[in-house]
Amino acid sequence: MSTRPLLNRSLAGMGTTIFAEMSALAVATGSINLGQGFPDTDGPREIAEAAARAVLEGRGNQYPPGPGIPELRQAIAEHQSRFYGLAYDPDTEVLVTAGATEALAAALLALLEPGDEVIAFEPFYDSYAACIALAGAKRVPLTLRQPNFRPDLDELRALITPRTRLLLVNTPHNPTGTVLTPEELAAIAELAVEHDLLVITDEVYEHLVFAGAHHPLAALPGMRERTVSISSAGKTFSFTGWKVGWVTASAALVSAVRTAKQYLTYVSAGPFQYAVAEALRLPDSYYADFRADLHRKRDLLAAGLGAAGFGVHEPQGTYFITTDITPLGEEDGLEFCRALPERCGVVAIPNAVFYDDAEAGRSLVRFAFCKRISVIEEAVTRLHTLHAG
Ligand code: PMP
Ligand code: GLN
Repeated sequence: MSTRPLLNRSLAGMGTTIFAEMSALAVATGSINLGQGFPDTDGPREIAEAAARAVLEGRGNQYPPGPGIPELRQAIAEHQSRFYGLAYDPDTEVLVTAGATEALAAALLALLEPGDEVIAFEPFYDSYAACIALAGAKRVPLTLRQPNFRPDLDELRALITPRTRLLLVNTPHNPTGTVLTPEELAAIAELAVEHDLLVITDEVYEHLVFAGAHHPLAALPGMRERTVSISSAGKTFSFTGWKVGWVTASAALVSAVRTAKQYLTYVSAGPFQYAVAEALRLPDSYYADFRADLHRKRDLLAAGLGAAGFGVHEPQGTYFITTDITPLGEEDGLEFCRALPERCGVVAIPNAVFYDDAEAGRSLVRFAFCKRISVIEEAVTRLHTLHAG
C-alpha cells in the first residue's frame, strides 16, 4: 500500500472532535456532562408532536425539495422579518441545510478558493477551521483576548490583505459568550464594505442573549448583499439532534451556497422541517421564557463556579461559560479536562482546542449550562471538592 497518509492532509491533526471525545469520556466515567452543548431536556412537546405527525402523515418522508420545504422557507423569512425587520424572499433568498454545520461547510466551500484568506474570531468553533482547510483557504485569526474577549478592531483592519476574501463572524460567540455591540458590528461592516469582503455570520445563539440584544450583521448598511447569515433550530428549540439549519442571503449568494450544499447532503430531515416551521412561529412568550430559563441557569452556574474557585467570565450570550483555571493553581486546560471526570465526575471542554495560538487559550475551560437546575447544582457540588485538592 502507498505510504501516503489516508486522510486528506488538509484535515491532518484534526482527528476526533473535542465534543465527541469529551462526551464519550462522560459516558465512560458516568460523569455529569457540561462539555458538549446540548440540552438535557427536549424542546416543546407540541413541536415534537408536529414532527411525529409529519412522519405518520407521510409529509417529508421522501426527498424534500433541495432548497427546503416551502413552509419552512416561508417561516424562516417570517422569522427574519418579525425579529429583525429583514425581508428575504423565501423562494430565492432562503436555503434549508443539515444544521448550521452544513450551512457553514457549504458556504465556505462555495465562496472560497485556494489561496483565499478568511479572518475569523479565535477561539474558532471547530468546524470553521476544518472547512476553511478543505476549501484550500487560509484562516487568519483575530484573537479575542482576556479579560473581556472583545475584538480589537484596529487589529482586524491590519489583518486585511488583498487576499482576504471573507470575514467569518460568530455572535453570540461560542465559546467566550461575547455578543458584538452595535458599534463593533458597525466597524466590522464598514471594513467589509471598504474592502469589498464577503461575510459569513454564524448566529445560532441569536435567541440566547442575556445582556444587550442580538443585532444581525446583515441589517447594517451595505451588508445585506454581501452577508450569508446562518442559524439553526438546534439551539433555539432544544432539538440539537434534528439538524435543521438555514441560510438567509441575497439570491446570488444563496445560489452559490446551494450549489455546494446539493453535493454535500442534497437534502435532509424532511419531517423535521415541518416541525421547525411550526416552532419558528411560536409566540414571543416561548422565546422570552427560553431566554429567561437559560439566564437563571447561567447565573446559577456562574455563581457556583466562582464559589468553587474558578475565574468566571460571565457570558453575554450562548449557553457556555468560559472560566480561567489559574486561580485553582492549574495551568493546562486540556490536562485539567482530561483529569476532571476522574477527580470529581464532571466533564468540561478545554478552550485551547479552538485556538491556533494554543497559549492564548491554555488555561481556559468551558462549561455548558443548558442542563437541569438539579444537574447544575450537583456539578457545582462536585466541583467544590477540587478545593480539597
Ligand atoms: N456554530 C456554532 C457557533 C455552534 O456552537 C454550533 C453547535 N450548535 C454550530 C454552529 C452547529 O450547529 P448545528 O448543530 O445546527 O449544526
Ligand atoms: N455546538 C456544540 C458545542 O459547541 C457541539 C456541537 C458538536 O458536537 N459538534 O458544544
